[in-house]
Amino acid sequence: MGRSRRQNNEFAAPAFDVFLEASPDALLALDEDGAILIANASASRLFGYSRDELIGSNHWMLLSEGFRNETDLLHARLVAQPDEPQPPREVYGRHRDGTEFAAEIAGSLLDDVGSPVLLLSVRSTAHRTGPDADLNEAMSLLAATLESTADGILVISSEGKIAGLNEQFLTMWSIPPELMKAASDEPAMRVILGQVKDPESFLARVMDLTKDADAESHDTIDFLDGRTFERYSRPQKVGDRIVGRVWSFRDVTPRRMAQEQAEQALADLAAQAEQLRAMAFKDPLTGLANRAVFNAELVRALKEPRLKSVDVLLLDLDDFKEVNDILGHQAGDDMLVEVSRRLRGCLPNADVVARLGGDEFVVLLTACPDVEAIAECIVRCLHVPFSIEGTVLRPSLSMGLASIGKDARGASELLREADVAMYAAKAAGKNRFLRFHPDMMTALVRRTDLEAGLQLAIARGEISVDFQPIVSPRMGRVVEFEALARWNRENHRVPPAVFIPLAERSGLINEIGTEVMAQSLQHLASWLSEDPSRSLSMNVSGVQLQELDFAENVLRLAETSGVGAYQLVMEVTESVFFDADCNVIKQLSRLRAAGARVALDDFGTGYSSLGRLQDLPVDIVKIDKTFVSMVRTGAERLPILSSMINMAHSLGLTVTAEGIETEEQANYLIALECDSLQGYLFSHPEPADRFEHALKNAGESLDVLASRSGPS
Ligand code: C2E
Ligand code: CA
Ligand code: CA
Repeated sequence: MGRSRRQNNEFAAPAFDVFLEASPDALLALDEDGAILIANASASRLFGYSRDELIGSNHWMLLSEGFRNETDLLHARLVAQPDEPQPPREVYGRHRDGTEFAAEIAGSLLDDVGSPVLLLSVRSTAHRTGPDADLNEAMSLLAATLESTADGILVISSEGKIAGLNEQFLTMWSIPPELMKAASDEPAMRVILGQVKDPESFLARVMDLTKDADAESHDTIDFLDGRTFERYSRPQKVGDRIVGRVWSFRDVTPRRMAQEQAEQALADLAAQAEQLRAMAFKDPLTGLANRAVFNAELVRALKEPRLKSVDVLLLDLDDFKEVNDILGHQAGDDMLVEVSRRLRGCLPNADVVARLGGDEFVVLLTACPDVEAIAECIVRCLHVPFSIEGTVLRPSLSMGLASIGKDARGASELLREADVAMYAAKAAGKNRFLRFHPDMMTALVRRTDLEAGLQLAIARGEISVDFQPIVSPRMGRVVEFEALARWNRENHRVPPAVFIPLAERSGLINEIGTEVMAQSLQHLASWLSEDPSRSLSMNVSGVQLQELDFAENVLRLAETSGVGAYQLVMEVTESVFFDADCNVIKQLSRLRAAGARVALDDFGTGYSSLGRLQDLPVDIVKIDKTFVSMVRTGAERLPILSSMINMAHSLGLTVTAEGIETEEQANYLIALECDSLQGYLFSHPEPADRFEHALKNAGESLDVLASRSGPS
């Protein structure tokens, strides 16, 4: 209700104006909005305002805060029960200077003066002393409390009439204040019921409590607009007498929402934890268990006293790196998934089949009657070829088996034994399983010892070079020598197949390679200088090609020995081309640009196909001895050999066949127009001091071949 300064000249002052003015009570006439139309002299005196200030102002300024709806209630009463006398209402008035004082108000309605007017008489009750004053004090406190609480409060008398309410009640229920002034409470009830989700039960509760005057209740009410109220109801008593019922409503929507949010957050957290747990125990690629699960299960199995056997199978795929490098990571992943599928198929009763990472798997078997049969079955089953995007792959694996026997062992020891056995299986030629044997530990110790020895080998002068001649049947003479590293360790030879991989792993291969090259150039320089068509072939590892100055070092070494770069051949295996590094290609290109040639060693043993050959920066292919060894009588048809040679020739490459041991093999390859031959038939690799011997042997073998093939 705003201030409406309305001049009311049109208001016809009654004749008893004088009485009004002389009244000891403050008299006020209010319009519908609560604005003061008339105020007498007592009113000015009581409230401390001049008459001009009073006229047109809202009467609320004359009441203490908690009592401002008292006039509304009084008005509602007068409308509802026009014929009944209404007792004066106890209020607190407010003086202009801010002081508050106890007062009572009485009212009557004038509705024959145009618009309805509420006539109020106000009398200070400050003169009352004792319990009365205390009561008033308490009343005012109560009323003030009622208005300042956040709860909406409604008091219904035992006769079913509204005995009191606060502003908050009206706001919370969006009830227009004039509805409360109406004669019936039906319109207000309609507003209330229109908002709640379940009007029937709302009403039922009201009815129940109306019947049972003594009852207390507490429930919650859901609103259509999503709000939630708590509803409390208790009897209103004066002494022991029940005079009505107090309803109080509290908006708990924010609390409920916070609770719901907290519950949702908890549910989300639980779901996430579940997901994390699943992830923590599962290998995401293959769906197999992971290392953590395996370890936990192994420890558990070893603690189980009734278990007679606990077996651990450790598997590692053979040459998996090549699949990844050559065919790409997707193919690698496909292979791992296929391998896991087969493993699970072979092991329906395994306790755990887990992937440890990379291409390593592990199996735990307890109470398994024949673990070796199962191991054999896995090796066989895994070796069945399958195709990925048109390329046929034949997975193979090396597997170590370790078991607890009479003397119990710990989990880590068992795993270590399986690991040692697995390495032994690899060393024994892969695609197999081996059961752990204590001797294998000795082998492990030997390997470590070997590595330490290799570190000192060059400094101790233990590295030397053997030379093996390569002949040209067309020219009828030795055209090339391949340099092969040798390690003479304390009067016994460590085979290159053992120390070269060791050197590659430790990086020592760089020094060894340089040493081999230096010795080779030193020994062969004069032989090479006699005939520019002669050449020296050297093996180069992928590790060496990672060096940024590899090509420059080779060329510098050759130059200092007076050997032309065009007389050098670098033998590399095809795997060097698939290590992501572009430096490899750069180094080889630099060497080729200087005139050196590149030979693809061990051709046919990798995963590459003949078709890939044309993309590689090579000049020579060396057909691996496994293909040559397929020639036995010389009468067999071996299309693989002829197509390799034809393919290479059609790409402008020359072909060397390795591992020629028999005349039949030599003749077979000569017939296929293989350019060069190498093998024990001509000469074993020989040390430098037997160089002439090697040359002589090779020459003699060539002569024999020529005489036999002759003009027949
Ligand atoms: P590779 O490059 O394929 O060398 C040919 C291997 O075949 C040599 O084994 C040689 O002795 C052997 N061989 C030659 N003719 C015959 C034959 O008629 N029958 C049979 N069965 N074998 C024959 P070796 O000397 O044991 O070398 C093994 C491997 O070690 C070499 O294979 C090569 O990959 C590597 N290697 C040797 N020296 C070096 C080196 O200086 N650097 C690098 N990176 N690798 C080397
Ligand atoms: Ca070679
Ligand atoms: Ca070879």
